[in-house]
Amino acid sequence: MRYRKLGKTGLVVSELGFGTIPILSGRVPVLPEYFSPDTDTAVAIMKKAFDYGCNFYDTAIPEEYGDAEMKLGVFAKTVDRKKIVISDKARFYGGGDIYREVLRSVDNLGTKPDIYFVHQVDESNVDEVLGKGGALDALYDLKREGKIGFTGIASHYYDVLLRAVKDPRVDVLQGSGNILERGMLDRISGEEAFKGKGFILNKVYAAGLLIGPFSVAELIGGILGYPFSSALLGVGTFEQAEAAFGTEYPPLTFSFEEVLKRLKNSFDPIECARCQRCVCPFGHEIHTSFRQFNYFHLGKEYWAAGKLKMDLEQTYAHCRTCEDKPCMKECPRGLYVPEEIGRIHGLLEAYGNA
Ligand code: SF4
Ligand code: SF4
Repeated sequence: MRYRKLGKTGLVVSELGFGTIPILSGRVPVLPEYFSPDTDTAVAIMKKAFDYGCNFYDTAIPEEYGDAEMKLGVFAKTVDRKKIVISDKARFYGGGDIYREVLRSVDNLGTKPDIYFVHQVDESNVDEVLGKGGALDALYDLKREGKIGFTGIASHYYDVLLRAVKDPRVDVLQGSGNILERGMLDRISGEEAFKGKGFILNKVYAAGLLIGPFSVAELIGGILGYPFSSALLGVGTFEQAEAAFGTEYPPLTFSFEEVLKRLKNSFDPIECARCQRCVCPFGHEIHTSFRQFNYFHLGKEYWAAGKLKMDLEQTYAHCRTCEDKPCMKECPRGLYVPEEIGRIHGLLEAYGNA
């Protein structure tokens, strides 16, 4: 296992970290597979990762990750606590709410989280999160009170992360990317503000969907060139722990064109790298629809179709009368967005009639 600095926190984390969604039990509406191991088994899986050199474990409150937070707390008691780094998160945007959740997390874990993230920050809540009395203010207070180690903002959106990284109260960022959805990682790599900041990467396996078309070695090796601190891998079985942490994978140069070529063996993907430069004045989140289209073909038909249906009909109508098509001006892939929206519309129609 190789290790990287976690920004300016003074912490050193394993290049590959343990994402705890797959060890949760119960019914939580999350995308990745989970295996509902009992606590002893879950602890043994986390220990196996630890024995391979993993020292970074990421979880969230029970409403999001079921009992994973409690299981991680049990595991933390079985090892020298100083040898692992725990990050936790909650989806609350007001200061009072997240302050309460952090105290509950400390109770559930039985130890202080080294990092605590405001989870799933987006355009609709970022002003509240970063504003006076918001969640970030509360995390900053909790850090000064010694109840958490460091503060974090987790988001799937580049513009939100860019805003957060410039805020001196933020110690660590968490964002998503993989060899297919690499556009945000490319932008982060080129942006000065992110240099030297702690950055945790999630969705390396795209919630498991990329395993199949690609091997674990390709998915991990293909992202190692990016300047993250630790890349989280969802692990729910001993076999997955072995595959994720049991081999030191070499970095791979895996071009976007090669990735697309591989996908084209089974379907015609939308060739979007998810850089998020396309902005639709009608508020349509183009990159998310393109991602769901690809996810649909990678084995999450029902889930992706449900997400796609939300505003697609309206967008399809807007696209047909949109003269300037401002979304296309910044697309480095030169995608003809309305045509791709049309393909998604056709897919949903066919799916609805199936
Ligand atoms: S072409 Fe469609 S997606 Fe692009 S800006 Fe116009 S309405 Fe939005
Ligand atoms: S459609 Fe183009 S601009 Fe938009 S996220 Fe994809 S690659 Fe980037």
